[in-house]
Amino acid sequence: MTLSAKLDLLGYTRAHLSALLIERGEKPYRADQILKWLHHRFVTSFEEMTDISKELRTYLTENAEIHELEVLDEKKSTDGTRKWLLRARSGSAIEMVFIPEEGRGTLCISSQVGCALNCSFCSTGKQGFNSNLTAGEIVGQIRLAVQTLKDAYPGRVRIVTNIVLMGMGEPLLNLDAVLPAVELMMDDLGYGISKRKVTISTAGIVPGIRKLAEYTDASLAVSLHAPNDEIRNQLVPINRKYPIAELLSVCREYIKVLGEKRTVTIEYTLLDGVNDQPEHAAELAALLLGFPCKINLIPFNPFPGSNFQRPSRKAVRIFQEFLVNAGLSTMVRTTRGDDIDAACGQLVGNVEDKTGRNITYHQIASS
Ligand code: SAH
Repeated sequence: MTLSAKLDLLGYTRAHLSALLIERGEKPYRADQILKWLHHRFVTSFEEMTDISKELRTYLTENAEIHELEVLDEKKSTDGTRKWLLRARSGSAIEMVFIPEEGRGTLCISSQVGCALNCSFCSTGKQGFNSNLTAGEIVGQIRLAVQTLKDAYPGRVRIVTNIVLMGMGEPLLNLDAVLPAVELMMDDLGYGISKRKVTISTAGIVPGIRKLAEYTDASLAVSLHAPNDEIRNQLVPINRKYPIAELLSVCREYIKVLGEKRTVTIEYTLLDGVNDQPEHAAELAALLLGFPCKINLIPFNPFPGSNFQRPSRKAVRIFQEFLVNAGLSTMVRTTRGDDIDAACGQLVGNVEDKTGRNITYHQIASS
């Protein structure tokens, strides 16, 4: 499938769209009207934009498009979690998850088709990598969820209150699309989510975090998963390029830029016998002492072919208690939607791998 030559309008920020319109001699406030049609009223054609001139509508119809993601499958968990399988323009499929909780709804979206980083305990990594999503495809996921869920939760003013870029892909390796998409998530003419409630999660791309600091003040989550470089090199191979000390140092820079009383979330997936022992907790506590963070422990979510085990509840509790007693704010991320494989690290989509890593896909594709 080739990319259309038309302008992918769902990925256009307010500034970007205004510039396009000014260039055509239009008033900049037309951008506001168009954004509302796209992100609040979910129109699918420019003809429906009745408060803009016929001439502008014709220009947009000829030169731009409102490209919607195709829903290939939708599943609902017994706990209310929903998962969608969506076709990206590249032809491969990505996954998106909605997690409803008391008083809030978190949407977990993808930033890439597959992932190139190959973290050893992540099933998306095992799928290999296909391509980047466009800004329009990233925003298109939110648009689709908000549109679909408003029928499922009639009367609720705001259904998606939090967005996490924790689906498939490494967001900081696709910043050209992620940055405008994040801007639209926060814009009132887009999805109006507060900066604290948009979280970008990274495996630790140091230059990406530096760039993020220049362009956004979204919340940051870092996938640490180990208390030292020796273990982290095994779990998160990108650590060989950007070791822990460098990673934590750039996170401090990011926090300084954010100002106020904001912290970074440290994600730590607990793997039985690998990084979940009391000595690992002690080493982690020493590493993070005085570092402005909140720790999120994620008990490993198994997937077919994974070589790791989830630790016992007791081991998770002991690990958490150790960190809390050391003065570190530490939560255990509850597993949601695992009956539909929607939990962290279980998102696989259907990736036409370009790295040669995903043996299963090639077998299926050629059989
Ligand atoms: N590429 C981003 C987003 C990944 S998904 C990143 O690396 O941060 C969000 C979190 O789930 C990450 O911390 C990731 O390492 C973790 N994760 C991946 N696979 C997992 C699994 N099978 N069980 C538990 N957590 C997992």
